[in-house]
Amino acid sequence: MQSPFWQPELETLSAADLAALQVQRLRATMERALRSPYYGEALRRAKVTPADIRTPADIRRLPFTTKADLRAHYPFGFLTMPLRETVRLHCSSGTTGNPTVIFHNRHDLDSWANLVARSMYCAGVRDADVFQNICGYGLFTGGLGFQYGAEKLGALTIPAGAGNSRRQVKLMQDFGTTAIHAIPSYLPRLYDEFVELGLDPARDTKLRIILTGAEPHSEAARGRIEAMFKCKAYNSFGLSEMSGPGVAFECERQDGMHLWEDSFILELVDPETLEPVPEGARGELVLTSLDREAMPLLRYRTRDLTSLIPGSCACGRTHRRIARITGRSDDMFIIKGCNVFPIQIEKILMNIPEIGSDWLIVLDTVGDGDELIIQVEVSQEHFTGDLAVLAQVRKRIIHEVRDEVLVTPSVHLVEPGTMPRAEGKARRVEDRRRDRGG
Ligand code: ADP
Ligand code: ZN
Repeated sequence: MQSPFWQPELETLSAADLAALQVQRLRATMERALRSPYYGEALRRAKVTPADIRTPADIRRLPFTTKADLRAHYPFGFLTMPLRETVRLHCSSGTTGNPTVIFHNRHDLDSWANLVARSMYCAGVRDADVFQNICGYGLFTGGLGFQYGAEKLGALTIPAGAGNSRRQVKLMQDFGTTAIHAIPSYLPRLYDEFVELGLDPARDTKLRIILTGAEPHSEAARGRIEAMFKCKAYNSFGLSEMSGPGVAFECERQDGMHLWEDSFILELVDPETLEPVPEGARGELVLTSLDREAMPLLRYRTRDLTSLIPGSCACGRTHRRIARITGRSDDMFIIKGCNVFPIQIEKILMNIPEIGSDWLIVLDTVGDGDELIIQVEVSQEHFTGDLAVLAQVRKRIIHEVRDEVLVTPSVHLVEPGTMPRAEGKARRVEDRRRDRGG
């Protein structure tokens, strides 16, 4: 029988052994980091040396690193080695000011590919699978990240790229694809393509595993995806600053994502006070890379909000699990004095069967006040022109949103297929207010 683990010795380490490994790797990471202009200065200023680290909790003596620090020291400020020793870089989008850049040497790429292979294995993908990677290649890390991970795992890999749903369906059928990776906002569109072609993915393909992530999505959204494709969809978490995909991944139990603690130190802090949150509470995820050479990051504030799942996982892996990301701290918007996360609204919409998969929150100034407007597509199946049904659906959304976020929205139901669709990650909030943040 095949092992249930990709690296049994590392995935099932005892808490004590994991802590010892973290201390050893954190010290080595600090040694390297000291060679970069940024950390050379920052660690000296904080008066902390590798020898000060005796337990993983000693990490709290190190300063935090923020996205602003990465931008301010773009492009080479965090680099620990001459450029000729590096072999690849990935950049973030950089819509506001400098983008951020992460450099990798051969070791970094190899250990990243290994983590992705471990993650995919953890969700049940095996070397006999045919894996189709349906996402953007290039600077976005989901493309090459999954590509090299899947190759390391030994699966036949189809680097399909993003979009062109008709071709995706054809590739899946021609090559007998059994596992795919795609972002959650794209999967319903892929399904629509099957329907349009008169096909049913459950009957007409060999698909058995979906890997998804890169965007916040609720359990209800996952439930819809699983019902469409009639197979399991596993949540996966990563970010370019920690290489990309392969930071945390669901196992077959689908109860939180194991965060690979041999390769990252995880902390959850209150985003205001930066103090650790109490056990089980939601906080901002702070990550330290433990196995990166060209550009290690210490105590990186991801801005992603999550909590730890208590207890151990029945799968036998000892690495702790994080809950679904409820969004980034900067996804939150304030309307009429209430703090709202888009995921709170998504959860309501995705539990209503008459609602399709595309939606947008518009914040606008109407008259003297600000308004929360929800534009949402009706599902194809329910778009029958029965006005009484639509009126009921509108009422339900208004009530449930008001109960959840304490603001009464106006709801615009639109025809299926009429909302603008992004190529990559979906944009869910459009702020058109005169006076933002009010
Ligand atoms: P960008 O910052 O341009 O979106 P990244 O590809 O590095 O580029 O995106 C990483 C971010 O994507 C994470 O910090 C997090 O906010 C989000 N993300 C990644 N995986 C998930 C997931 N499974 N659930 C929710 N959000 C996710
Ligand atoms: Zn598990």
